[in-house]
Amino acid sequence: LTSGLEAAWSKLKGEEVLTKENIVEPMRDIRRALLEADVSLPVVRRFVQAVTDQAVGVGLIRGVRPDQQLVKIVHDELVKLMGGEVCELVFSKSGPTVILLAGLQGVGKTTVCAKLANYLKKQGKSCMLVAGDVYRPAAIDQLSILGKQVDVPVYTAGTDVKPSEIAKQGLADAKKKKIDVVIVDTAGRLQIDKTMMDELKEVKQALNPTEVLLVVDAMTGQEAAALVTTFNLEIGITGAILTKLDGDSRGGAALSVKEVSGKPIKLVGRGERMEDLEPFYPDRMAGRILGMGDVLSFVEKAQEVMQQEDAEELQKKIMSAKFDFNDFLKQTRAVAKMGSVSRVIGMIPGMGKATPAQIREAEKNLKVMEAMIEAMTPEEREKPELLAESPVRRKRVAQGSGKTEQQVSQLVAQLFQMRVRMKNLMGVMQGGSIPTLSN
Ligand code: GDP
Ligand code: MG
Repeated sequence: LTSGLEAAWSKLKGEEVLTKENIVEPMRDIRRALLEADVSLPVVRRFVQAVTDQAVGVGLIRGVRPDQQLVKIVHDELVKLMGGEVCELVFSKSGPTVILLAGLQGVGKTTVCAKLANYLKKQGKSCMLVAGDVYRPAAIDQLSILGKQVDVPVYTAGTDVKPSEIAKQGLADAKKKKIDVVIVDTAGRLQIDKTMMDELKEVKQALNPTEVLLVVDAMTGQEAAALVTTFNLEIGITGAILTKLDGDSRGGAALSVKEVSGKPIKLVGRGERMEDLEPFYPDRMAGRILGMGDVLSFVEKAQEVMQQEDAEELQKKIMSAKFDFNDFLKQTRAVAKMGSVSRVIGMIPGMGKATPAQIREAEKNLKVMEAMIEAMTPEEREKPELLAESPVRRKRVAQGSGKTEQQVSQLVAQLFQMRVRMKNLMGVMQGGSIPTLSN
């Protein structure tokens, strides 16, 4: 999707304003990119129309190139398409909040149960999981194991009790124990069928849940949007959770669900670890799709690991282009602490989707960078200019770290590039100026 859109911007290089004529070609690229990302045709049509209408109407803004204007319009329109605002989970005002999870087999429901409990626990809420998938004993075991992993109690009643009955018992138990949130796992099937829907309806009736969330797999593209629509019509849902966004999905699901079904995506899963669940931010997703990197997410993740002050300091430094090697090192270490580099790599500006080989390469590169930064004096780390100006210093760092002088030069150049890029991107994310698109 990203590369398809880049073709669209490049066609506007050298133009002075956006006109009906000169946006025809870029709009064709945008249309193709969206269809290739598995966004459904009616959605693509409406999207292209909305962007076209605005683009022709904007006129000339001093100091802003037409390609930049078009990026901004497409970005805002993408955000709107995905529902605009973050859609928070709703909590019950009295008694336990009940979250019922539904979805086809293998989409990640059981995993989401535990991830969600882990996520809510961090917000200070006590949780309980209820094993409502009674068709396979293995499903109950899986939930019990995951529950243990995130240290949350799991209510089970074996495979002989009806799911709606188990749900009722679980809820009663949670009330007794003054649990804040009860998360109910259910059985999925390979396809939608009446038995599954009837069972879900029964469980829903028994529980009167605060949230009914459909778990869908991002890899299924526009099929995901269709599923959300069907489940909403059949049982009534409050939103969706999109899983496996870390995989090779083409993004169509994230773009279409809200528009097609009218129901928002509330959370997204980005991996198999218990930490890999986060709110769905339409603006960040739009930024990601446009290939601007997800700076805000990146800074936020780093924030969890770094001290709060450090992160604010970092933001200030990025804005004033004072980002130095100490920050660089802190960031790379924070990234390492965050777990797999692969997850974060998509968030780093200028790095798109990576293959496993590229990820291994990147992980190796991080180690090399660390070695070189460690060989710098504190002064050099704070003032990278010193290294930029002095071959003697670069040579010393090279010798001290066992790397070549060329590698040191590259690292220094990279830091300066990052300063510029990050500053531009931060501006955009904060609703400021528009990024330059030159690479
Ligand atoms: P269920 O049948 O809907 O309960 O699905 P499960 O929770 O058992 O998950 C099926 C498989 O998908 C498991 O191997 C999970 O580890 C995997 N899975 C779930 N969520 C994600 C995700 O966000 N990313 C990736 N890569 N794998 C996931
Ligand atoms: Mg399951």
